[in-house]
Amino acid sequence: MADLSHLPPLRDVIAEHGLGARKALGQHFLLDLNLTRRIVREAGDLSGVAVVEVGPGPGGLTRALVESAAREVVAVERDSRFAAALADVMAAADGRLRLVEADALTVDPVDLVPAPRAVISNLPYNVGTPLLIGWLKRIAEYRSLTLMFQKEVAERIVARPRTEAYGRLAVMCQWLADCRILFDVPARAFTPPPRVDSAIAHLTPRARPADDPDFRTMEALVAAAFGQRRKMLRASLKSVVREPEPLLESVGIAPTSRAEEVDVAGFVTLAKALRR
Ligand code: SAM
Repeated sequence: MADLSHLPPLRDVIAEHGLGARKALGQHFLLDLNLTRRIVREAGDLSGVAVVEVGPGPGGLTRALVESAAREVVAVERDSRFAAALADVMAAADGRLRLVEADALTVDPVDLVPAPRAVISNLPYNVGTPLLIGWLKRIAEYRSLTLMFQKEVAERIVARPRTEAYGRLAVMCQWLADCRILFDVPARAFTPPPRVDSAIAHLTPRARPADDPDFRTMEALVAAAFGQRRKMLRASLKSVVREPEPLLESVGIAPTSRAEEVDVAGFVTLAKALRR
């Protein structure tokens, strides 16, 4: 833990370094340290955990992470302007904060820090979903993922069958992780405010049985099923299996059902049958 109480307010840091927000990089900053501390608190016990943060920006969430019991914090930032703004936090962090200047889509947190590790981040919206999918592929490597998304994306992560929001993201996330929304964050909490509200999703890996399908099979199946979500599965699954009907019947799913009627366990059973 480090004492950062002597650091200037984030507004002053932004003004001093002329850090106007760049829209193309999804820059919407959290300047309220009570809020960033709450995010870190609700992420769970971080004692001994190495945390990767994507996009520290001026460092509001980074400060709260450095103040926490995390063993170390590695912040991956694409915009080189923020290095100077983070220098004060770095100096106060006693070697527990490292800044990696890179596109987060090109670095794997598993290679950056040893286990136990977690990702805690106010994600840039334009790359939030691809980053999550990448981390899901190796979800067992993480203690947890605590991620701010547009509210609509967070709702798709936790969506239940037979709802509009239920789709590929829900099935893949809920197959691999226990998923919940920690809390909503209104647009006005950000500087500058985005057009939509946000929410923080929390994912913790689920234990996987030995006969669990592999990621690619599941991904292909779910993509086919929801790619044509209004169609019956006997039609939409033709791109992954020549004769969907007997396959669906063999696992007790009506060939006339639509993707959004099948729960996560149903997709897992189907993926296993597909593999056979
Ligand atoms: N963590 C800060 C906060 O909460 O105030 C900033 C969050 S802002 C929503 C997203 C941050 O991600 C910005 O600092 C932006 O420069 C950075 N960013 C955008 N695309 C990125 C990428 N591909 N890789 C790494 N950082 C990225």
